[in-house]
Amino acid sequence: MSEHFRECTSCVMDARAADTVFDSTGQCNHCSTMLATLSTYQPVDAGVLHLRLAAFVNTIRTAGRGKRYDCIVGVSGGADSSYALYLAKQHGLRPLAVHMDNGWNSELAVNNIENLVRKLGVDLYTHVVEWREYRALQQAFFDADVIDVELLYDNAMLAVNYGLAKRYGIKYMLSGSNTSTEGMRVPSNFNWNKFDRKNILAIARGDGVRVRSLPTIGVLGLVYHRLVHGTQWIPFLDYIDYNKQRCIDVLVRELGYRPYPYKHYESIFTRFYQGYLLPQKFGVDKRRLHLSALICSGQMSRAKAGELLAHSPYPDPDELQADIEYFLKKMNWSEQDLADYLARPERPHADFASEAPLFAQMLRAQKRFLPGR
Ligand SMILES: [Zn+2]
Repeated sequence: MSEHFRECTSCVMDARAADTVFDSTGQCNHCSTMLATLSTYQPVDAGVLHLRLAAFVNTIRTAGRGKRYDCIVGVSGGADSSYALYLAKQHGLRPLAVHMDNGWNSELAVNNIENLVRKLGVDLYTHVVEWREYRALQQAFFDADVIDVELLYDNAMLAVNYGLAKRYGIKYMLSGSNTSTEGMRVPSNFNWNKFDRKNILAIARGDGVRVRSLPTIGVLGLVYHRLVHGTQWIPFLDYIDYNKQRCIDVLVRELGYRPYPYKHYESIFTRFYQGYLLPQKFGVDKRRLHLSALICSGQMSRAKAGELLAHSPYPDPDELQADIEYFLKKMNWSEQDLADYLARPERPHADFASEAPLFAQMLRAQKRFLPGR
């Protein structure tokens, strides 16, 4: 881990991210691209932003007339999705909050979600995955040595959301994703396409596991929901001047929300995966991406980000030890199993059947028929 990689002079991305290019001043393409996007995305004028949000809320309300809900907000218990739900309610929308429980929720996340929906008076739909099947699928991903073990959760969450949108005739799925804190494009060696159902099934098959009850969605499913039902996935926080710390303060003050030390730490698995497995096995520290996005949107100084990165993702060794023990017990692994997994080289997702060619084809068609998108 002492190996040194060239780091950008403006953000904290380094050469471990795929396709990193530095310009003559030492700035990387990841942050220059994000800065260019930000300049076109966020109108500086608060009045313009406000009008744009009001018009969009009106569109959602009109589309939802006569229906039980007018939008879906997927909630993880994290700050971004919690704030998206809060914002929807603030503007008089009638959201259905949707959560997927994959057995790895932290107690704090469960408390945050329960508290949030109760105080906001929102209906919550929780999809609980069948744990034994989910564990077998996670095991298949570990045995395959592919990087994106979270593909299972993210794909199932999308499938559940799109399925509910169809059931209730809801057109808008409001997400906590946003350009200002997440607008840096995820480098291609950090994860995999979240709509790659074929890849999930192939990796599972490689371990003799069948997907029986876990909801999944592929590229064609996405096209079907988008074109036939007109369902749209919206990064809702792009409609406001989203400042993460300010919004967490509002959630804490008004809803008794309890924050986490880092992004995505609401799930014990995500915490362990991002804080330990990703850096140890794949040399990927996702904090670089998250912190760089905050630097680009002016919400953190580069010096502060450097300070955070100087510490392990697990500042407290006791907490790391507790998470290792929890992980081993839950996955039914020995310490040797974990050591063997970490020592094996990564295998690309593309070694397994994939919808990547289909997705590329779809993007080409979209560009051809919807120029300018
Ligand atoms: Zn940079």
